[in-house]
Amino acid sequence: MASLTEYKKKRKFNKTPEPGPEKKRTKSGRLFVVQKHRATQLHYDFRLEADGVLKSWAVPKGPSLDPTVKRLAMQVEDHPVDYADFEGVIPEGEYGGGTVMVWDIGTYEPENTDDVSAALRKGELKFSLNGEKLKGSWVLVKTRDRQWLLLKHRDYYTTEEEVTEIAPASILTRRTLAEIAEDEGGDVKKAATGDPKKVPRRTGVKRRKKGGKKKVWHSKGS
Ligand code: MN
Repeated sequence: MASLTEYKKKRKFNKTPEPGPEKKRTKSGRLFVVQKHRATQLHYDFRLEADGVLKSWAVPKGPSLDPTVKRLAMQVEDHPVDYADFEGVIPEGEYGGGTVMVWDIGTYEPENTDDVSAALRKGELKFSLNGEKLKGSWVLVKTRDRQWLLLKHRDYYTTEEEVTEIAPASILTRRTLAEIAEDEGGDVKKAATGDPKKVPRRTGVKRRKKGGKKKVWHSKGS
C-alpha cells in the first residue's frame, strides 16, 4: 500500500512550502511530472501517479529521448499528488533545499498492465508519456534495491538531441531555475548552475510570475 510516511518524516511543514502528505487521486489517475531540482546536485525528479501518490525517482542526468541511452533513476520516497505543480524554493538547510521547477507535466498510460503498483513491485513498468517535452514509449527497470534504469523505446519521438538542453525551462511558467530562485527568494547563483545559461536572460522570455494563470493539474477534473 502506498504511503506518505517517509515523505512526512523527512520534512518540517512549518519550514518548507512543499505540499503536505495528503493522498488523493486525479481524475485520470495517471498524472506524470518531471521536476528539475537544484539541490546538493542537479537532478530531475521523475514521478508517476499510482494508488493516490506519486511514485518517484531521482534521475541525475534527466530523461533522454535517445533509445541507446540508459539513465540511472534512484527511487525515492512517494510524494503527494499535489506535489506535481510545486515550483519554488525549499529553504537551504531543509530536506532537498534548493530550487524546484516543473520541467514537464502530463499524463501517462501503462503498457501491458492496469496495475502500476504491481508492475513496479515486480521491477518493470512499460508506459507511454503524453507530456509537452516527453512523449512516446518508455520503460523503468529495476536493477537492484532502489536503483532503476529509465529507457526510451524506439518510436516516432526518438531523437539523439538532449531534450534537457533544448528545453531547459519550466513548462508551467517558462522560467529558468535562476528566475524561479530570484522570484521566490532562493539562491540565484546556485540555481543558475542548473541551467545551460549562467545568467538568466529575460529579454524575449515569456515568463509568468507565481499566481499567474496556469492549469492546476492535481485538482479533480483536470
Ligand atoms: Mn529532488
